[in-house]
Amino acid sequence: MPELPDLEDYLAALHPRMQEATVTRVQVTGVSLLRTYDPPIDGLIGSRIEGIDRIGKRLVWQLSVPDGEPEPWYLVVHLMIAGRLRWGDPGASPPGRIGLAAIEVSAPGSADEPGGTLLLTEAGSKRRASMHLVRGPDALAEHDRGGVEPFDVEVEGFAERLRLERRTLKRVLTDPRRFAGIGNAFSDEILHAARLSPVRRTDHLSDDEVARLHEVTQRVLRDWTALLREQTGDGFPTKVTAFREGFAVHGRFGHPCPDCGTEVQRIRYAANETNYCPRCQTDGKLLADRSLSRLLKDDWPKTIDALEGD
Ligand SMILES: [Zn+2]
Repeated sequence: MPELPDLEDYLAALHPRMQEATVTRVQVTGVSLLRTYDPPIDGLIGSRIEGIDRIGKRLVWQLSVPDGEPEPWYLVVHLMIAGRLRWGDPGASPPGRIGLAAIEVSAPGSADEPGGTLLLTEAGSKRRASMHLVRGPDALAEHDRGGVEPFDVEVEGFAERLRLERRTLKRVLTDPRRFAGIGNAFSDEILHAARLSPVRRTDHLSDDEVARLHEVTQRVLRDWTALLREQTGDGFPTKVTAFREGFAVHGRFGHPCPDCGTEVQRIRYAANETNYCPRCQTDGKLLADRSLSRLLKDDWPKTIDALEGD
């Protein structure tokens, strides 16, 4: 699922293409994509895009205030696990089986000069990606799960959120009500870089460990955002994946840890897994899947949706 660095990369590519452009065509082909019917999605046509931003893992397009309406409309897209964006020429349609929607815009700053088409796709048989068109900031705020932006939080606020409940580090880092934009992949990378076990209880952390985790969380997300931006350049992100070359542990089960050479291990659950290095993170201990699930009971995400979900 696209996480903070992936979404920032999308945003940086969307701004020069859509900011201050006018919507000229909207085509929704994914049957379960659009979750709202009022205002009607065709009402977007002719609107100017005033801003493009992010709330947690959701992308938000702010539209100009429509005639006769008191407040702007917002288009909210959650890509969930397999949703992706592409950029196409004017007139492009959602591609074959995986296409969900197309939003065509004029060139930025012009109402009629051709611009391009934003295409929304989703691979696989499960349709999880969603699109909402809502009226006004209050309706938009309902899409905010409340997680703090990792770059906006000082160490005190970070510590407070971390320790609100007695939970595992893996769970709290990926909880959208606590921290925004961190999913399975980057939580693995952050915990490895911080030399902390994914199953450490948040109430067992020392102040030094919390401070280290805070610093490392920001560093890992900042470094990956910068790297993805560099790789994408002026193009549009095409390789958005949870398995990146250059990851230390995530998706690297059985490979040597880049820091100590020990084989990366995994904890499996649902159709997903958490990866860690036993030497760097768990004092050499292997975390057994079964005993772990007993130990953690309900403090481990049971499904992908629970982990990556909202
Ligand atoms: Zn290691």
